[in-house]
Amino acid sequence: MTPPAMFITVDGTRHDIVTPFDGADHATIKGEMKQCPKCRACDMFGVRGKGVRIAPDDRAYEADGYTACCGAYLGIIRVEPSTIFGLREDEAVLYGRVRVY
Ligand SMILES: [Zn+2]
Repeated sequence: MTPPAMFITVDGTRHDIVTPFDGADHATIKGEMKQCPKCRACDMFGVRGKGVRIAPDDRAYEADGYTACCGAYLGIIRVEPSTIFGLREDEAVLYGRVRVY
């Protein structure tokens, strides 16, 4: 199975995110965005998701993304697992595989 696409949209720009290790309680942003846009104190800052729900299009999970360092709101996290029937239908199968906080 292809791993789900994960990204966060910050001010209209999409940034890919990765979980640094299995079961991590946060994700990190890949690419040029290395510093927290709010406190600027941290290298490779973490992102945490709150309020996970199935996206309106039924093809992804969404959550509100906050920085792990200072708790600032960043944007919407979106995780797109491969789905054939839509997530509501697939959710029982996928439960426990996709972890977003
Ligand atoms: Zn910060």
